[in-house]
Amino acid sequence: MEEKAKKIKLLFLDVDGVLTDGRIIINNKGEETKAFNVKDGLGLKMLMKHGIQVVWITGRKSRIVEYRANELGIREVYQAVKDKGMLLKKIMAKKGFIKENICSMGDDIPDLAMFEVSGLSIAVADAVREIRMAADFITRTRGGHGAVREACEWLLQCQDG
Ligand SMILES: [Mg+2]
Repeated sequence: MEEKAKKIKLLFLDVDGVLTDGRIIINNKGEETKAFNVKDGLGLKMLMKHGIQVVWITGRKSRIVEYRANELGIREVYQAVKDKGMLLKKIMAKKGFIKENICSMGDDIPDLAMFEVSGLSIAVADAVREIRMAADFITRTRGGHGAVREACEWLLQCQDG
């Protein structure tokens, strides 16, 4: 598995349940709020500094996601994505990456399509059973509670080792 991690050049991340704890807080005006983890943010910055590209992919759409990605310097954010697998394949082709260069991280069924086209799959600790079964690596931490930071540190450790 460490050998797999060494070849990774691009990390695809689902948002809800991976970068957040999955809760979407809606106020009386119908406005949404989500909580991101500051430790995950730093982990992603470390990864990008190391030359690993980071792309966010979500089935939902909200301005909060754009704001947070912007803040972290993540330029590639795809929202309201129906088929994550198809989009991954398109991005890989555009960038000239092969399956072995791709890592994806998810928590729920729509992320299985990402796992299928990735060389390495990571599930958060509280992912649904199907995702945990399909993953190469399961973080000890839960989505929104540092799972992304844990994955980033593990990837960097493997790449340096
Ligand atoms: Mg999710």
